Formats: sequence, structure tokens, C-alpha cells
Amino acid sequence: MAPIEVAQYDYIVLGGGSGGSGSGRRAAGWYGAKTLIVESGRSGGTCVNVGCVPKKMTWNAGTVNETLHTGKHYGYDIPAGIKFDYKYFKETRDAEIKRLNGIYERNWNNEGIDLVHGRAHFVEPKVIEVANEDGTTSRYAGKHILIATGGRPSIPKIPGAEHGITSDGFFEIEELPPKIAVVGAGYIAVELAGVMNAMDVETHMFIRGEHFLRKFDPMVQETMTNRYEAAGVQLHRQHGGFKEIKLIRDGKGKDRLIKLISNDGSEIEVNELLWAIGRAPEVEDLHLDIPGVKLNSNGYVVVDEYQNTSAEGVYALGDVTGQAELTPVAIAAGRQLGSRLFGPAEFKTAKLNYENIPTVVFSHPEVGCIGLTEPEARQQYGDDKIKIYKTKFTNMYYSLMPAEEKAKNPTQMKIICAGPQEKVVGLHILGLGVGEMLQGFGVAVKMGATKADFDSCVAIHPTSAEELVTLR
Ligand code: FAD
Ligand code: NDP
Repeated sequence: MAPIEVAQYDYIVLGGGSGGSGSGRRAAGWYGAKTLIVESGRSGGTCVNVGCVPKKMTWNAGTVNETLHTGKHYGYDIPAGIKFDYKYFKETRDAEIKRLNGIYERNWNNEGIDLVHGRAHFVEPKVIEVANEDGTTSRYAGKHILIATGGRPSIPKIPGAEHGITSDGFFEIEELPPKIAVVGAGYIAVELAGVMNAMDVETHMFIRGEHFLRKFDPMVQETMTNRYEAAGVQLHRQHGGFKEIKLIRDGKGKDRLIKLISNDGSEIEVNELLWAIGRAPEVEDLHLDIPGVKLNSNGYVVVDEYQNTSAEGVYALGDVTGQAELTPVAIAAGRQLGSRLFGPAEFKTAKLNYENIPTVVFSHPEVGCIGLTEPEARQQYGDDKIKIYKTKFTNMYYSLMPAEEKAKNPTQMKIICAGPQEKVVGLHILGLGVGEMLQGFGVAVKMGATKADFDSCVAIHPTSAEELVTLR
């Protein structure tokens, strides 16, 4: 038998998503490492294809409808029943994503990175095999191998669960369902229920607790859950789970009908069911036992602060490690690793600092957070060392609306300070435009700003953000 040909690389990156691309480009583009990216799906990974990018475009589409509704309070004669061509929007969104796929591949090519489309698994500690799209296999050996294979949405193990979709399927919808059930209480459930409601789809949210976004500050949990209800989302709080899901009628949009039977025997019929109950790491078929890469009890790859796995010369980052599952986190960790492995001596201890990562939930309205929640801060510093500054008001944008409409559009802010210097250890904001607002304040918090530093910055008037530098 002829020996199997094995191509040699300095760096093999499994997964061409946010983290893999960021790391591969740093290694090859900056430091000339001979790099291979293996990607089993569409280039760019979750964020570009079924995550941040199509989500934000859909959020924008929902926001346009909200703006139309607000417009009439400014005197615009907005006719009732304005039609929204979702199919057109979806096709335009898809075309833009395809363009981005091409940009990713061109960037890799320009930086001398080889790309193989196919599914990879380990066959030796430093050798991987790729099942190519044409049915053949190829093998590649790497001095360094990065696992950046991300994750996939979870589906509950109940009869008929397959009749629902996940966030991946959400981006394939071609016709808006008149009525949707969203199960879950995290980022994805809140964001996608929010856009559906903003597009006038009858939206039912099934949550296990009293509030959603339970990992966020209590102010965010309570205000946002109540705000969703006020905006028309039908919340099924304290929901005890489903016994069975039945497909009544197959089809698209209004032609599709699904029956959800809850454990308490209650039933509801909807035109679409979206599972948004969390994600699982994509590791099953990688044969990680071959290099000896350890997983934690939830199946995530265990890494140290430098993204080293338990196997020498094998690294992992991004969603597959379960560390702050956000695109910029995966990119930043990937770049640091690329510099550490292939850069000059000054980068030999390069690593990402996972403290104080700002994050925004693209809900309606947006939520922005950095640092500790109030309960976390109280536990870490003690009640007597914590000072809380907060405010609640109506953004001027809504000030021309009737009182009941104004009440549905809250803006809320909380600054959590610790110690005699009143160092800002937590910042939580919700309201119009806070997604754009947070980045700059994130820099300040990252630099260790105190409340006095915030106050020393002259306010910009009239904005919502000015409240953050004038809180008493
Ligand atoms: P991925 O981007 O998932 O890339 C992994 C890649 O590996 C995939 O392309 C996959 O095809 C490939 N792969 C898997 N197994 C193999 C294999 N065996 N061989 C070869 N290739 C393989 N984050 C934000 O910061 N902001 C947001 O607004 C935001 N919105 C989101 C909305 C949704 C609906 C979802 C699902 C996620 C969102 N995220 C957001 C999270 C963000 O998308 C992820 O944190 C990020 O994509 C993780 O990057 P990664 O490189 O770890 O994995
Ligand atoms: P999350 O971990 O955010 O939320 C999943 C939620 O589902 C849990 O909090 C839990 O809420 C609920 N849940 C779990 N199991 C069940 C069940 N069996 N039945 C009903 N509800 C259940 O995961 P997501 O999938 O929403 O998002 C994954 C990650 O992707 C996020 O953590 C985030 O890092 C990233 N992301 C980031 C975005 C952004 O930056 N804007 C947007 C989207 C995703 P509870 O315990 O309250 O019941």
C-alpha cells in the first residue's frame, strides 16, 4: 500500500469562524506561519452565517417597523397596513452574507493561508484527516493545531422536538409565521422573540423562571421581561416544560401548524416553534482522545489562560471552550494566541484578559453590560463597600408619545462602585442606542475608572448617555 501523503504546516486551524480566522490571519498575515484553515461549513462561521450578522440585520428590519410606529407621534401620516416583504429582505440579507463569505476567503488567500473545505478529525496527536466534499480524504500534520470548531444549538429530548427550528433554521425562514413560540430565556431567545414581535408576529415566550436573562443584573431581568410583556410578547412564565410537540400541518408561514403540549396538559398551536435553550460545543467527531484533549463535565474543551489544552501543541478558543461566547472574544483570543506562537519574544506571554468584557443584547430596546452584576459585586466586596447609582427616565425620542406609550419604552442605568475610591465595577444600561453607547464606557471601565472620573467628563446634551456622567 502506498504511504498516505501528509502535507506539513506550522499551524492548522480547525474551524474558519471568528476565532479560527482571527488566529490564522495573525499567524500567517503578521508572522508568515504556513497556515491551513479547515472549514466544514460556510466560511466565517456562526457569526457571519447564522449569528451576529444576519441577526443584527433582522434586528434592524424590526427596528424600522418600530420607527414607523413612532413616526405617527411626530406627525407623519403613516398609512395602516404597510406591507413588509420578508422574502425580499431575506434574499437581500443572504446575498450580503454570501459577499462576506467571499471576503473571508479572499482575506485568507491574500495572507497566504490554505483553505480546505471539509470535516476534520484527529488521526494522530499532530495529524488530522479531512473528509473532503468530493468524498476523498486528505491528511495534514501541524506543529501547532488550534481547535476553533465553535458550537451548535441544543434541542430538548422530547417527542416531536424536531418539528421546531433553532437559530440556524430561523435564518432560513422565507415567510413570516403569523404566530411563533420561542422557548428559552437567554440572549438568543430574547433577541429573536424581540425581532419577531417588532415585526408584528404574535410571539409567545416560554421561560422556566419569572424573568428572562437571568444571568444579568436584576434591573435588566425585571425591566426587560416586563417591557417585552408591555410591548405585546405573550410570556408564559414559570413554564414547566413540554410533554410533546405535534406537527399538525407541514408548510411555510401561515400554512405550517405545530401543537405544543405542556407537561401540565395545556396546549397551544403556533405556526413556528423556535428552540433557544442554549448551545453545545462542536467536539463529538474530532476524536480528541487521540491527542488527549480533556473536556469538562459540559463537554467544553478545557484550556488554561493561554488557550493551551491538556495536549502539548494543541490549543482551543472561542465557543468550543465555553468562555464568554462572543465573536470579539474569539477573535481577540485567536489573535493573542497567533502572536504568542509565532510572534517575536515580547509576545511569548500574550493572552486575552477575560475580565470586564462588554456585551450587548440586541433586544428591544438593547441592553448593555460590563463588569459585575449588583449581587455579584455585593458578594465579592461586601454590602458596606458597594455604592449603587441608578436612574430611570424616558428618552427624549419618546417624549412626544402619550404617557402609556412612554411607559413602554424605559431607559434605565445602573453604575456599581466599590471601595472608598468608588471604582466602577459594574455598568448596566438599557434603552434606545445603548449598544453604541457601551463601547466607550467599556474603555473607561477597563482602564479602572472611578465614579469621579465619570463625573469629570463634561456631559453631551441632550443625550441619554449624559446621565452616566451626571448620576447622583
Ligand atoms: P464559530 O464561529 O462557530 O466557528 C466554528 C467553525 O468551525 C464553524 O464554521 C464550523 O462549521 C467549523 N467546524 C466545526 N466542526 C468542524 C470540523 N470538525 N472540521 C472543520 N470545521 C469545523 N456574538 C457577538 O459577539 N455578538 C452577537 O451579536 C452575537 N449574536 C449571535 C447570534 C446568534 C443567533 C448566535 C448563534 C450567536 C451569536 N453570537 C454573537 C455568538 C458568536 O457567533 C460566537 O461566539 C462566535 O461565532 C464564536 O466563534 P468561534 O470561532 O468560536 O466559532
Ligand atoms: P444562553 O446560555 O444565553 O441561554 C440559554 C437559556 O435557555 C438559559 O439561560 C436557560 O434560561 C434557558 N434554558 C436552558 N434549558 C432550557 C430548557 N430545557 N427549557 C427552557 N429553557 C431552557 O444561550 P443562547 O443559546 O441564548 O446563546 C448562546 C450564547 O451565544 C450566549 O450565551 C452568548 O454568549 C452568545 N450570543 C451572544 C449574543 C450577543 O452578543 N448579542 C446574541 C446571541 C448569542 P433559564 O435558566 O432562565 O431557564
